[in-house]
Amino acid sequence: MRCINCLSTKTVINGFDNKCVQRYKCNGCGKRFCEKGFFARFRHPVGKIITAVRWRMKRWSCRETRDEVAEVLKIIVSHVTIWNWCMKFISILVLWASLIDDDYDKIIHVEEKFIRVRYSKDKFAYLFVAIDSKNKVIATFAANSRTTESAKIFLNKVGEKIIPEIIVTDKCQIYNKPCRIFGRKTKHVKAHFKPEGIVHDGKIFLLSNNRVERFNSDIDLFLHVFRGLKSFETAEIWIQGLMIYHNYLKPSEIKWSKIPKMITCQRQVIPRIIFYVNLSPF
Ligand SMILES: [Zn+2]
Repeated sequence: MRCINCLSTKTVINGFDNKCVQRYKCNGCGKRFCEKGFFARFRHPVGKIITAVRWRMKRWSCRETRDEVAEVLKIIVSHVTIWNWCMKFISILVLWASLIDDDYDKIIHVEEKFIRVRYSKDKFAYLFVAIDSKNKVIATFAANSRTTESAKIFLNKVGEKIIPEIIVTDKCQIYNKPCRIFGRKTKHVKAHFKPEGIVHDGKIFLLSNNRVERFNSDIDLFLHVFRGLKSFETAEIWIQGLMIYHNYLKPSEIKWSKIPKMITCQRQVIPRIIFYVNLSPF
């Protein structure tokens, strides 16, 4: 059993609670938790909560999700509850997803775009996105300025996950210096819609940043439902959630071979188990 707070595996059983549910103690962080883990304090069944969060991630608004939850799942909750479920669940997903060992492609695309964050100092913020050439989102970062500094923080974040061989950015000046953090072996290509040719490992690559544009338009559609994000804090959570949805939970990204046959033939059960199969370490 992994610890639900720090994901450490150094856990030991630690008696039962008054309802005879097994308790655990983590020797990593010292906290205790019960068998139900994250879901111990939810009133509604986990499966229904997960389904609701997935619907919300499909760009339905909280109110639309609430109506659908009432009609299909037969539970009456407010749109605020849906919001709370999403906030709580996405932070859990982000924690779990940190355990997945991704092998990213060595060619990465980086771009920044405007987003609206309602209560930030400036009306617009900048969202930095890095995506590999297999369409996996590597990292995102919301900053309130489009400067070399922000680009540096962001590329450091990318650097924690991968040292790319080729990095493709738009023609913006801010990337010139920060790109050097990857070392001399990393080639920096500047291209936008029009592909640029580059020779790498004896092969010719035509590289453009259209790939990022596609994820960006996904974000646009998503943000349209929001009419702008409410604060930087929630912006970060939502965008990470969107990244996880994009990387692992879109129907096309589900690794069907990993899911037992018996379950895959019942499509309606899938939303509930995808999270466990793809993301849960338990
Ligand atoms: Zn722990």
